[in-house]
Amino acid sequence: MKINVTQSSMPNFEEYIEEIRDIFNSKWLTNMGPKHKILTEKLKEYLSIENISLFSNGHLALELVIQAFELKGEIITTPFTFASTTHAIVRNGITPVFCDINDKNYTIDVNKIESLITEKTSAIIPVHVYGNICDMKKIEEIAKKYNLKVIYDAAHTFGVRVNDIGVGNFGDASMFSFHATKVFNTIEGGAITFKNKEIERILYNLKNFGIKGPEIVEYVGSNAKMNEFQAAMGICNLRHIDEEISKRKDVVERYNQNLKNINGIKLNSIPEEIKSNYAYYPVVFDNYKKTRDEIDEQLKANGIISRKYFYPLITDFDCYKDKYVFEKKSVAKNISDRVLTFPLYSDLPLLEVDKICDIILK
Ligand SMILES: *Cc1c(COP(=O)(O)O)cnc(C)c1O
Repeated sequence: MKINVTQSSMPNFEEYIEEIRDIFNSKWLTNMGPKHKILTEKLKEYLSIENISLFSNGHLALELVIQAFELKGEIITTPFTFASTTHAIVRNGITPVFCDINDKNYTIDVNKIESLITEKTSAIIPVHVYGNICDMKKIEEIAKKYNLKVIYDAAHTFGVRVNDIGVGNFGDASMFSFHATKVFNTIEGGAITFKNKEIERILYNLKNFGIKGPEIVEYVGSNAKMNEFQAAMGICNLRHIDEEISKRKDVVERYNQNLKNINGIKLNSIPEEIKSNYAYYPVVFDNYKKTRDEIDEQLKANGIISRKYFYPLITDFDCYKDKYVFEKKSVAKNISDRVLTFPLYSDLPLLEVDKICDIILK
């Protein structure tokens, strides 16, 4: 039996069929239909936020919120993330400026942001990587001082709360991903949560070709509408999300039990004020008896698929490596060379977790 790094959460077949029955009756398949409307309201409630706009995927949501804010010049971000974060900046014709991460929770190093700010800087796009929360207080202080927008890549933080505040309430906007591999999925999908209500109309138009009315096209928009089948999947998955997260928590705690207090193994820790969604299980191997790559190979030989999230760094991608400068001896590089994320999904049997840990420890 093969164990993958993740497995998509799905409702049972009958529940989904029941949910899409209306769509077959109405023949309203996309363009902000009734399912889209219901999911929007339910997500506002679940995420405890006022403003949300749904998209066909998280990446286009990020591209379009950058466009909505009319950002220009340079945006400060980190290279320790998924390709999407940087691509969204570059595809808007903006230069990414790479800031290192901290070695505590692998989010942007807030002490290194200010030295990267120039006259051209228009925004900061930090990443809540693995569901770990950035130092938002410090980031937003800096942003205020220099008049910059803050857009969080919150792709990993569906349902996370900070001191009981939904994480989508911070900064000017946050992007959530509802991709099949994420904690909550709409097959493919995503959303922007945002502070300023005026952005709502702009996002609405941008995801529909910039069309404002039957005879008015206001923006050079894209096509990034969430369709009714996606929204129906979201409505079903949202019914079970608390149970999903609770089962993920059991898996994470089982890993922690097995791997804690071992020399050379650094586990991810969750501060008290954070209500986690247990999105990923990253482990950093530093001076352990085997290297990250050796452990990855050994697990693979046993049919267990881990992932080197995030290796290589974005600044080492073929499409970027000769274009942008980034410190050679960074924390990001150090972590990227040593981190491995282990299989984690709600239906992963705890005995399999023990088996995985046995291989690592042996
Ligand atoms: C998944 C992900 C995205 C992109 O989201 P999609 O919904 O797959 O387009 C962006 N950033 C990060 C950090 C991600 O993990």
